[in-house]
Amino acid sequence: MPFKTSQQFILFVCLILACSNACARDRLPQSRSTVPADVGWTTDPAAAGSGTANGGIKNFSATAATIRSTVSNLTFEIPNYPFTPRADRLVDCQLKTETLSLRTDDKGPFKDYAEFQARGLAKIPTLVRSYGVKGLSDVRIVLPEAYAKRLDEGQVIGKDPGTGKDSQRVAPADLPQLIDEMPDPRYFKRILISDNGNPEDDWVTQSYFSKGFVSATAMIDGELFLYKSNLTDYLRRDLMHEWGHELRYKYWNDPVRDLFHDAVQVETQWNPRQYAARGDSEQWAVLGEKLLGTSANDFVEACDRAPIRTTLWMMTLTKCLNNVPKPLWTVDQSKYAARAKYVEKKVRGKALDSVVAMQRVEKDPARLDSLNRLAKGL
Ligand SMILES: [Zn+2]
Repeated sequence: MPFKTSQQFILFVCLILACSNACARDRLPQSRSTVPADVGWTTDPAAAGSGTANGGIKNFSATAATIRSTVSNLTFEIPNYPFTPRADRLVDCQLKTETLSLRTDDKGPFKDYAEFQARGLAKIPTLVRSYGVKGLSDVRIVLPEAYAKRLDEGQVIGKDPGTGKDSQRVAPADLPQLIDEMPDPRYFKRILISDNGNPEDDWVTQSYFSKGFVSATAMIDGELFLYKSNLTDYLRRDLMHEWGHELRYKYWNDPVRDLFHDAVQVETQWNPRQYAARGDSEQWAVLGEKLLGTSANDFVEACDRAPIRTTLWMMTLTKCLNNVPKPLWTVDQSKYAARAKYVEKKVRGKALDSVVAMQRVEKDPARLDSLNRLAKGL
């Protein structure tokens, strides 16, 4: 669908990367103090929502439609739960003062990210409310106390930057359910709910887009930021995208990182979404939306169209799931494990066949090196 306004371009930002060059390999995650934002956009929030008829992919492929009839949706479909507030899961409420980053009135332009940080951002001591989450001892949900009081008084309605429609803002009690749905619910160490826009949006606008950048989520060092986020049918997908980045960083020193880079070089016929072309990290995170999304069709299409990348991703997911204590497993973790097992049994061989077929005809030495490494590593 075409964009109606420039504000519909952008829904999430992944701040954890330093790389802004779509062709370059990304670097180790660094401190936010030195890292400019890495940016992203969705094609259309309605079409890209999990569980939609076309799986969020424009021109849904005939291949996937064929496969749909051969793989049981009942097996791979993941429940799309209605949002259920769980105030009973919010524990250990604390009031404290924290320094939050806010945008100054300085319109810029700024010569670089450091100057934007110095002139464009202000660190404001803010009274915040902080909750623990019952069952997840390391997770805190934090929001300005003034905003928390507004949410206490009833639903807060706000315009969603993606749909342009008024809908209900995310409140702390909405989050335990979403956290539980992540394969390892302990990856988000802290979730900040903000009633302001992302203060870094203007830097992204200046450095990447001419106007209208609006972000809804961002992630850095295990902290998830929700900016004016609403309870939409793509909220789970956006959180899963950010969770996927964190998964990659958890396995930064695993051979899978280089192998995935090799896979991106040689498996080029299909991208899960245009934004994935920005680089290895977004390839990884966007593919994760499909592999962990509620739609079985999305999952099957990724298996079919990107068997090498999918195999590597799900090998990593298996390692992750093996570290999740059983008391934290819900039906979702079981579904993810079933998908991972399917990939191991049905997709890995196809990925190897694809590598071998490409090895036979590849003339470019660098790509051949990638294929040789994949043949050993898959
Ligand atoms: Zn991302």
